[in-house]
Amino acid sequence: MAAVEMTGIEKSFGPSVALADFSVSIGSGELVCLLGPSGCGKTTALRILAGFERPDRGTVVVGGKDVSDDPPERRRFGMVFQDYSLFPNLTARQNIEFGLKVQKRPATERAEVVERMVAVTALDAHADKYPHQMSGGQKQRVALARAIATSPRVLLLDEPLSALDAKVRETLRDEIRRLQQEIGVTTVFVTHDQHEALAVADRVGVMSNGRLEQLAPPRELYLNPANAFVAGFIGTVNRVDAVGQSDGRWRVLGRVLAGSRPGHEGVEEVAAVRPEQVAVDPDGPATVVGVSFLGPITRVTVDDPQVGQVLADVISADAADLRPGGAVRVRLRDDVEHVVLIGRSA
Ligand code: ATP
Repeated sequence: MAAVEMTGIEKSFGPSVALADFSVSIGSGELVCLLGPSGCGKTTALRILAGFERPDRGTVVVGGKDVSDDPPERRRFGMVFQDYSLFPNLTARQNIEFGLKVQKRPATERAEVVERMVAVTALDAHADKYPHQMSGGQKQRVALARAIATSPRVLLLDEPLSALDAKVRETLRDEIRRLQQEIGVTTVFVTHDQHEALAVADRVGVMSNGRLEQLAPPRELYLNPANAFVAGFIGTVNRVDAVGQSDGRWRVLGRVLAGSRPGHEGVEEVAAVRPEQVAVDPDGPATVVGVSFLGPITRVTVDDPQVGQVLADVISADAADLRPGGAVRVRLRDDVEHVVLIGRSA
Protein backbone atom coordinates (compact mmCIF):
# COMPACT_ATOMS: atom_id res chain seq x y z
CA MET A 1 0.00 0.00 0.00
CA ALA A 2 1.28 3.44 -0.88
CA ALA A 3 1.98 5.76 2.06
CA VAL A 4 0.69 8.79 0.15
CA GLU A 5 -1.65 8.81 -2.79
CA MET A 6 -2.69 12.04 -4.51
CA THR A 7 -5.12 11.30 -7.31
CA GLY A 8 -6.56 13.52 -10.02
CA ILE A 9 -5.75 16.75 -8.19
CA GLU A 10 -6.85 19.95 -9.92
CA LYS A 11 -6.37 23.43 -8.52
CA SER A 12 -6.85 26.87 -10.05
CA PHE A 13 -6.41 30.31 -8.55
CA GLY A 14 -8.79 32.45 -10.61
CA PRO A 15 -7.73 32.03 -14.21
CA SER A 16 -4.36 30.54 -13.31
CA VAL A 17 -4.20 26.72 -13.31
CA ALA A 18 -1.73 25.62 -10.63
CA LEU A 19 -2.35 21.86 -10.89
CA ALA A 20 -3.99 20.01 -13.77
CA ASP A 21 -4.80 16.35 -13.18
CA PHE A 22 -1.87 15.80 -10.83
CA SER A 23 -1.46 12.28 -9.45
CA VAL A 24 1.38 10.74 -7.47
CA SER A 25 1.80 7.60 -5.41
CA ILE A 26 4.58 7.49 -2.81
CA GLY A 27 5.82 4.36 -1.07
CA SER A 28 6.41 4.04 2.65
CA GLY A 29 9.81 5.45 3.64
CA GLU A 30 10.41 6.82 0.18
CA LEU A 31 11.84 10.28 -0.52
CA VAL A 32 10.23 11.86 -3.56
CA CYS A 33 11.40 15.22 -4.88
CA LEU A 34 9.02 17.43 -6.81
CA LEU A 35 11.18 19.37 -9.22
CA GLY A 36 10.27 21.95 -11.81
CA PRO A 37 10.59 25.54 -12.93
CA SER A 38 9.09 28.43 -10.99
CA GLY A 39 5.30 28.41 -11.07
CA CYS A 40 4.91 24.78 -12.19
CA GLY A 41 2.78 23.92 -9.14
CA LYS A 42 5.25 22.22 -6.78
CA THR A 43 4.37 24.24 -3.70
CA THR A 44 0.66 24.00 -4.44
CA ALA A 45 0.94 20.20 -4.58
CA LEU A 46 2.76 20.22 -1.22
CA ARG A 47 0.25 22.61 0.37
CA ILE A 48 -2.64 20.44 -0.77
CA LEU A 49 -0.91 17.36 0.62
CA ALA A 50 -0.38 19.19 3.93
CA GLY A 51 -3.99 20.37 4.04
CA PHE A 52 -3.24 24.11 3.82
CA GLU A 53 -5.01 24.31 0.48
CA ARG A 54 -8.11 22.50 -0.75
CA PRO A 55 -8.04 21.06 -4.26
CA ASP A 56 -10.88 21.86 -6.67
CA ARG A 57 -10.96 18.18 -7.50
CA GLY A 58 -9.14 14.97 -6.53
CA THR A 59 -8.29 13.06 -3.37
CA VAL A 60 -5.45 12.78 -0.90
CA VAL A 61 -5.07 9.39 0.77
CA VAL A 62 -2.48 8.83 3.52
CA GLY A 63 -1.84 5.39 4.97
CA GLY A 64 -4.91 4.08 3.18
CA LYS A 65 -7.24 6.72 4.68
CA ASP A 66 -8.83 9.56 2.73
CA VAL A 67 -7.65 12.76 4.47
CA SER A 68 -8.95 15.16 1.81
CA ASP A 69 -11.27 16.83 4.35
CA ASP A 70 -8.87 16.74 7.31
CA PRO A 71 -7.33 20.02 8.50
CA PRO A 72 -3.49 20.16 8.63
CA GLU A 73 -3.22 19.35 12.35
CA ARG A 74 -5.19 16.11 11.93
CA ARG A 75 -2.77 14.88 9.25
CA ARG A 76 0.22 14.69 11.63
CA PHE A 77 2.80 15.82 9.11
CA GLY A 78 6.12 17.47 9.81
CA MET A 79 7.03 20.52 7.73
CA VAL A 80 10.20 22.43 7.02
CA PHE A 81 10.05 25.67 5.04
CA GLN A 82 12.65 27.74 3.27
CA ASP A 83 12.45 30.55 5.84
CA TYR A 84 12.98 28.27 8.91
CA SER A 85 9.78 29.56 10.61
CA LEU A 86 11.26 29.15 14.08
CA PHE A 87 9.72 30.84 17.11
CA PRO A 88 12.10 33.76 17.74
CA ASN A 89 11.42 33.84 21.50
CA LEU A 90 12.26 30.16 22.03
CA THR A 91 15.69 28.53 22.15
CA ALA A 92 16.62 25.74 19.76
CA ARG A 93 15.75 23.19 22.41
CA GLN A 94 12.40 24.84 23.14
CA ASN A 95 11.61 25.08 19.44
CA ILE A 96 12.26 21.36 19.05
CA GLU A 97 10.09 20.62 22.10
CA PHE A 98 7.19 22.74 20.87
CA GLY A 99 5.34 20.10 18.82
CA LEU A 100 5.76 17.55 21.60
CA LYS A 101 4.07 19.94 24.04
CA VAL A 102 1.21 20.42 21.58
CA GLN A 103 0.91 16.63 21.50
CA LYS A 104 0.80 16.69 25.32
CA ARG A 105 3.64 14.20 25.69
CA PRO A 106 4.93 13.76 29.27
CA ALA A 107 7.87 15.94 30.34
CA THR A 108 10.35 13.08 30.72
CA GLU A 109 9.56 11.77 27.24
CA ARG A 110 9.83 15.29 25.79
CA ALA A 111 13.26 15.79 27.34
CA GLU A 112 14.44 12.45 26.02
CA VAL A 113 13.20 13.08 22.45
CA VAL A 114 14.64 16.62 22.41
CA GLU A 115 18.07 15.39 23.48
CA ARG A 116 17.98 12.69 20.83
CA MET A 117 17.02 15.23 18.16
CA VAL A 118 19.74 17.65 19.30
CA ALA A 119 22.25 14.82 18.99
CA VAL A 120 21.17 13.52 15.55
CA THR A 121 21.13 17.02 14.08
CA ALA A 122 24.49 17.88 15.67
CA LEU A 123 23.08 20.87 17.55
CA ASP A 124 24.71 20.15 20.92
CA ALA A 125 26.71 23.39 20.94
CA HIS A 126 23.71 25.52 19.93
CA ALA A 127 20.77 24.00 21.75
CA ASP A 128 20.34 26.95 24.15
CA LYS A 129 20.70 29.67 21.53
CA TYR A 130 17.82 31.72 20.18
CA PRO A 131 17.23 31.76 16.40
CA HIS A 132 18.89 35.18 15.96
CA GLN A 133 22.07 33.75 17.50
CA MET A 134 22.31 30.91 14.96
CA SER A 135 23.51 30.61 11.37
CA GLY A 136 21.09 29.73 8.55
CA GLY A 137 22.28 26.14 8.47
CA GLN A 138 21.89 25.77 12.24
CA LYS A 139 18.40 27.27 12.15
CA GLN A 140 17.39 24.85 9.43
CA ARG A 141 18.73 21.96 11.51
CA VAL A 142 16.48 23.12 14.35
CA ALA A 143 13.51 23.29 11.98
CA LEU A 144 14.28 19.78 10.78
CA ALA A 145 14.69 18.46 14.33
CA ARG A 146 11.42 20.11 15.33
CA ALA A 147 9.64 18.53 12.37
CA ILE A 148 10.85 14.99 13.01
CA ALA A 149 10.61 15.13 16.82
CA THR A 150 6.87 14.52 16.66
CA SER A 151 7.31 11.29 14.62
CA PRO A 152 5.32 12.65 11.69
CA ARG A 153 3.58 10.27 9.32
CA VAL A 154 4.99 12.23 6.40
CA LEU A 155 7.77 14.83 6.27
CA LEU A 156 7.24 17.74 3.89
CA LEU A 157 10.20 19.90 2.89
CA ASP A 158 9.50 23.07 0.90
CA GLU A 159 12.75 24.38 -0.62
CA PRO A 160 14.45 23.84 2.76
CA LEU A 161 17.94 24.67 1.51
CA SER A 162 17.31 27.61 -0.82
CA ALA A 163 18.32 30.29 1.66
CA LEU A 164 21.68 28.69 2.46
CA ASP A 165 25.03 29.11 0.76
CA ALA A 166 26.32 26.37 -1.53
CA LYS A 167 28.60 24.55 0.89
CA VAL A 168 26.09 24.43 3.77
CA ARG A 169 23.37 23.45 1.32
CA GLU A 170 25.32 20.42 0.20
CA THR A 171 26.19 19.27 3.72
CA LEU A 172 22.65 19.72 5.02
CA ARG A 173 21.21 18.02 1.94
CA ASP A 174 23.26 14.91 2.73
CA GLU A 175 22.30 15.12 6.40
CA ILE A 176 18.62 15.31 5.54
CA ARG A 177 18.95 12.22 3.39
CA ARG A 178 20.86 10.31 6.07
CA LEU A 179 18.34 11.22 8.76
CA GLN A 180 15.38 10.47 6.53
CA GLN A 181 16.73 7.01 5.77
CA GLU A 182 17.60 6.41 9.40
CA ILE A 183 14.11 7.12 10.67
CA GLY A 184 12.46 5.81 7.50
CA VAL A 185 9.97 8.66 7.24
CA THR A 186 8.05 9.07 3.97
CA THR A 187 9.19 12.42 2.60
CA VAL A 188 8.17 14.87 -0.10
CA PHE A 189 10.86 17.42 -0.92
CA VAL A 190 10.08 20.39 -3.15
CA THR A 191 12.97 22.01 -4.97
CA HIS A 192 13.79 23.81 -8.19
CA ASP A 193 17.42 22.64 -7.98
CA GLN A 194 17.97 19.55 -10.13
CA HIS A 195 21.31 18.67 -8.51
CA GLU A 196 19.65 18.64 -5.12
CA ALA A 197 16.78 16.49 -6.38
CA LEU A 198 19.01 14.00 -8.17
CA ALA A 199 21.32 13.72 -5.16
CA VAL A 200 18.74 12.99 -2.45
CA ALA A 201 15.64 11.44 -3.99
CA ASP A 202 14.57 7.84 -4.43
CA ARG A 203 12.39 9.18 -7.23
CA VAL A 204 12.12 12.61 -8.78
CA GLY A 205 8.86 13.97 -10.17
CA VAL A 206 9.53 16.53 -12.87
CA MET A 207 6.66 19.00 -13.17
CA SER A 208 5.69 21.56 -15.75
CA ASN A 209 2.50 23.59 -16.04
CA GLY A 210 0.74 21.81 -13.21
CA ARG A 211 1.46 18.34 -14.54
CA LEU A 212 3.82 15.57 -13.59
CA GLU A 213 5.87 14.97 -16.74
CA GLN A 214 7.82 11.99 -15.39
CA LEU A 215 8.30 10.32 -12.02
CA ALA A 216 11.36 8.09 -11.93
CA PRO A 217 14.59 7.31 -10.07
CA PRO A 218 17.32 9.90 -10.79
CA ARG A 219 19.34 7.60 -13.02
CA GLU A 220 16.33 6.62 -15.11
CA LEU A 221 15.29 10.26 -15.44
CA TYR A 222 18.72 11.24 -16.68
CA LEU A 223 19.29 8.31 -19.02
CA ASN A 224 15.73 7.88 -20.28
CA PRO A 225 13.88 11.17 -20.20
CA ALA A 226 10.25 10.59 -21.20
CA ASN A 227 9.96 13.67 -23.36
CA ALA A 228 11.63 16.82 -24.61
CA PHE A 229 10.76 18.82 -21.52
CA VAL A 230 12.38 16.36 -19.10
CA ALA A 231 15.39 15.90 -21.38
CA GLY A 232 15.94 19.64 -21.50
CA PHE A 233 15.27 20.26 -17.82
CA ILE A 234 17.54 17.56 -16.38
CA GLY A 235 21.17 18.13 -17.30
CA THR A 236 22.25 19.43 -20.69
CA VAL A 237 21.29 17.96 -24.05
CA ASN A 238 22.16 18.46 -27.67
CA ARG A 239 19.15 18.14 -29.93
CA VAL A 240 20.45 16.44 -33.04
CA ASP A 241 18.82 14.99 -36.13
CA ALA A 242 18.00 11.29 -36.09
CA VAL A 243 17.06 9.54 -39.33
CA GLY A 244 15.14 6.24 -39.23
CA GLN A 245 16.63 3.19 -40.96
CA SER A 246 14.91 0.20 -42.57
CA ASP A 247 16.05 -2.07 -39.73
CA GLY A 248 14.30 0.08 -37.09
CA ARG A 249 17.47 1.77 -35.88
CA TRP A 250 18.45 5.44 -36.20
CA ARG A 251 21.35 7.28 -37.80
CA VAL A 252 22.62 9.86 -35.29
CA LEU A 253 25.90 11.82 -35.53
CA GLY A 254 27.36 9.36 -38.01
CA ARG A 255 26.43 6.14 -36.21
CA VAL A 256 23.48 3.78 -36.63
CA LEU A 257 22.04 2.50 -33.36
CA ALA A 258 18.84 1.60 -31.49
CA GLY A 259 16.54 4.30 -30.19
CA SER A 260 14.00 4.65 -27.38
CA ARG A 261 11.42 3.79 -30.04
CA PRO A 262 11.80 2.06 -33.42
CA GLY A 263 12.64 4.09 -36.49
CA HIS A 264 11.14 3.76 -39.95
CA GLU A 265 13.09 4.27 -43.12
CA GLY A 266 13.60 7.95 -43.87
CA VAL A 267 11.64 9.27 -40.87
CA GLU A 268 13.28 12.35 -39.37
CA GLU A 269 13.24 12.86 -35.62
CA VAL A 270 15.24 14.59 -32.90
CA ALA A 271 17.51 12.71 -30.49
CA ALA A 272 18.64 14.01 -27.10
CA VAL A 273 22.38 13.48 -26.90
CA ARG A 274 24.25 14.37 -23.71
CA PRO A 275 27.56 16.26 -24.05
CA GLU A 276 29.37 13.32 -22.44
CA GLN A 277 28.11 11.07 -25.26
CA VAL A 278 29.87 13.14 -27.92
CA ALA A 279 33.47 12.48 -28.98
CA VAL A 280 35.62 15.10 -30.70
CA ASP A 281 38.22 13.81 -33.18
CA PRO A 282 40.98 15.89 -34.79
CA ASP A 283 40.58 17.06 -38.41
CA GLY A 284 37.16 17.33 -39.96
CA PRO A 285 34.55 19.68 -41.32
CA ALA A 286 33.56 21.16 -37.94
CA THR A 287 35.15 24.02 -36.03
CA VAL A 288 35.77 24.41 -32.30
CA VAL A 289 34.11 27.67 -31.23
CA GLY A 290 34.43 27.45 -27.44
CA VAL A 291 36.45 25.62 -24.79
CA SER A 292 35.55 25.78 -21.07
CA PHE A 293 37.78 24.08 -18.54
CA LEU A 294 35.54 22.60 -15.81
CA GLY A 295 38.12 20.62 -13.81
CA PRO A 296 37.92 16.90 -14.62
CA ILE A 297 36.17 17.60 -17.89
CA THR A 298 36.40 20.30 -20.54
CA ARG A 299 33.25 21.40 -22.32
CA VAL A 300 33.87 22.01 -25.99
CA THR A 301 31.44 23.83 -28.26
CA VAL A 302 31.70 22.74 -31.86
CA ASP A 303 30.08 24.27 -34.93
CA ASP A 304 29.31 21.51 -37.41
CA PRO A 305 28.19 22.52 -40.94
CA GLN A 306 25.62 19.69 -40.98
CA VAL A 307 24.55 19.28 -37.37
CA GLY A 308 24.80 22.86 -36.07
CA GLN A 309 26.20 23.66 -32.66
CA VAL A 310 27.12 20.65 -30.51
CA LEU A 311 28.38 20.55 -26.93
CA ALA A 312 30.88 17.82 -26.06
CA ASP A 313 32.39 16.97 -22.67
CA VAL A 314 35.94 15.74 -23.09
CA ILE A 315 38.15 14.38 -20.29
CA SER A 316 40.42 17.35 -19.57
CA ALA A 317 43.56 15.23 -19.94
CA ASP A 318 42.54 14.56 -23.56
CA ALA A 319 41.49 18.11 -24.36
CA ALA A 320 44.86 19.89 -24.41
CA ASP A 321 44.88 20.23 -28.21
CA LEU A 322 41.35 21.51 -28.54
CA ARG A 323 41.42 25.25 -29.18
CA PRO A 324 38.94 27.68 -30.71
CA GLY A 325 39.31 27.68 -34.49
CA GLY A 326 40.57 24.10 -34.61
CA ALA A 327 39.18 21.72 -37.26
CA VAL A 328 37.46 18.69 -35.74
CA ARG A 329 34.83 16.02 -36.32
CA VAL A 330 32.07 15.16 -33.83
CA ARG A 331 30.59 11.69 -33.44
CA LEU A 332 28.68 9.62 -30.92
CA ARG A 333 31.05 7.85 -28.56
CA ASP A 334 31.48 4.13 -29.22
CA ASP A 335 30.06 3.17 -25.81
CA VAL A 336 26.68 4.83 -26.47
CA GLU A 337 24.27 1.95 -27.00
CA HIS A 338 21.02 3.72 -27.71
CA VAL A 339 19.61 7.19 -28.17
CA VAL A 340 16.55 8.85 -26.67
CA LEU A 341 14.12 10.28 -29.23
CA ILE A 342 12.36 13.40 -28.04
CA GLY A 343 10.24 14.42 -31.01
CA ARG A 344 10.38 17.35 -33.35
CA SER A 345 8.82 19.87 -30.97
CA ALA A 346 11.94 20.02 -28.82
P1 ATP B 1 8.13 28.45 -7.17
O1 ATP B 1 9.27 27.51 -7.43
O2 ATP B 1 8.32 29.77 -7.83
O3 ATP B 1 7.77 28.55 -5.71
P2 ATP B 1 5.97 26.55 -7.66
O4 ATP B 1 6.27 25.51 -8.66
O5 ATP B 1 6.04 26.16 -6.24
O6 ATP B 1 6.84 27.83 -7.95
P3 ATP B 1 3.26 27.30 -7.07
O7 ATP B 1 3.62 28.21 -5.94
O8 ATP B 1 2.64 26.01 -6.74
O9 ATP B 1 4.50 27.06 -8.02
O10 ATP B 1 2.30 28.11 -8.06
C1 ATP B 1 1.69 27.54 -9.21
C2 ATP B 1 0.84 28.61 -9.89
O11 ATP B 1 -0.26 28.96 -9.08
C3 ATP B 1 1.58 29.90 -10.17
O12 ATP B 1 1.15 30.39 -11.41
C4 ATP B 1 1.14 30.81 -9.04
O13 ATP B 1 1.16 32.16 -9.44
C5 ATP B 1 -0.27 30.34 -8.76
N1 ATP B 1 -0.65 30.50 -7.34
C6 ATP B 1 -0.15 29.79 -6.31
N2 ATP B 1 -0.73 30.17 -5.15
C7 ATP B 1 -1.61 31.15 -5.45
C8 ATP B 1 -2.53 31.96 -4.69
N3 ATP B 1 -2.68 31.79 -3.38
N4 ATP B 1 -3.26 32.88 -5.36
C9 ATP B 1 -3.15 33.02 -6.70
N5 ATP B 1 -2.32 32.30 -7.48
C10 ATP B 1 -1.55 31.38 -6.87
